[in-house]
Amino acid sequence: MKLYYICECCEEVFDVVEAEGEGLGQVQAMCPDCTRELGRDEPSSLLNNTFYYH
Ligand SMILES: [Zn+2]
Repeated sequence: MKLYYICECCEEVFDVVEAEGEGLGQVQAMCPDCTRELGRDEPSSLLNNTFYYH
């Protein structure tokens, strides 16, 4: 199956992950862009995601 990670903020699919089983799944989450804009980043992940913007 495929798990679609859908941003609960901008409602865009920002990631698709293959998982075991049939069908589709949805995961409500925050995309990296919105996470950054809302400042919810952990300090460690902020370092890893610093380069999404030019
Ligand atoms: Zn978003």
